[in-house]
Amino acid sequence: TGYSFSAASGPLPAEVRAAVAEACMPPNGGRSILSLPFTSDAYRRLQDETEACLRRLLDIPDEFRVLFLQGGATLQFAMLPLNLLGGARLAAYVDTGHWSRRAIEEAGRYADPDIVARAVGHIPHEHDWQLDPRAAYCHITTNETADGLQFDRLPAIPVPLVADMSSDLLTRPLDFTRLALGYAATQKTIGVPGLTVLILRADLLGRAHPATPRAMNYTAQAEAASRVNTPPVFPVLVAHRMLHWIERQGGVAAMAAAVERRSAAVYAVLDDSGGFYRNTIARAHRSRVNPCFHLADQGLTERFLDAAQRAGLHDLRGHPRTGGIRVSLYNGVEDEAVAALAGFMREFARTQG
Ligand code: PLP
Repeated sequence: TGYSFSAASGPLPAEVRAAVAEACMPPNGGRSILSLPFTSDAYRRLQDETEACLRRLLDIPDEFRVLFLQGGATLQFAMLPLNLLGGARLAAYVDTGHWSRRAIEEAGRYADPDIVARAVGHIPHEHDWQLDPRAAYCHITTNETADGLQFDRLPAIPVPLVADMSSDLLTRPLDFTRLALGYAATQKTIGVPGLTVLILRADLLGRAHPATPRAMNYTAQAEAASRVNTPPVFPVLVAHRMLHWIERQGGVAAMAAAVERRSAAVYAVLDDSGGFYRNTIARAHRSRVNPCFHLADQGLTERFLDAAQRAGLHDLRGHPRTGGIRVSLYNGVEDEAVAALAGFMREFARTQG
């Protein structure tokens, strides 16, 4: 019992859990999703409806393709250079924190990653990036899940913009006039682990390195409707139910309003705490999805986490690299969870401060 604020995976709303359970154990003895062959018409319909719903929610233009892949966001760190360099070596990267560095490290195995800007508590404006227009693409991490730092908008740049949106896809609208490729593992904002959604402009296809494994080749996957091999049937089902739930709530605008309201409630506690809780990120770049903070007296961190746990507020420990506390507010988190957390934080500061 209680509430989870885990950064690794987001909670699914009760309605979505019930719909998934019903698909696993159909009440009238129908076919369970757990044994549905990917070759069946029923699965094709499921995948087509999932894509159509994602297209409606994000208003994805026709010239973009949607792929349903496996291997998590981490596999994309390698698949991007393999698929996009087209024989070149130069790829631009913005270093905003932990996850962008993981992407840069992995790209270094296939490309010459050029770090065009670094964020320290604040993301430099794109006019100040040292961007070589010959770069095959420029990679950003729209929301740094470990650091609590988020782009407040997509930058306007002269090379194809590639974005890891694993922790904020479907928490705000997307500007497709600025984006060439966006990808997200689905376990945080869209469902369960096992599926990675990739949205790319069709003119980026056809550039893969010849040694790219076929299951990792965007062009081969696009031509095979993401079924070069067996797709992740069950995670696609969960995404289908979650996307339709988002649509019933009022779509991405409703998700954006919710995450804005919930993060504002958390930041209000930090800002009103007289320095008891500390966040050093510039206001414009504070993450709406993963507010991170430290206790000014870091000796109180373990006591905070223990007391929170006893109050039914779980999974608040910060990323091991940053320490402190992290509150993840993915689409399935409820307002009452955030209200309980804010109340707890105020009380903790009052009694321990
Ligand atoms: N990128 C970002 C922004 C993340 O937050 C995460 C996971 O936390 C990843 C990539 C890695 O995702 P996966 O574990 O699916 O490879």
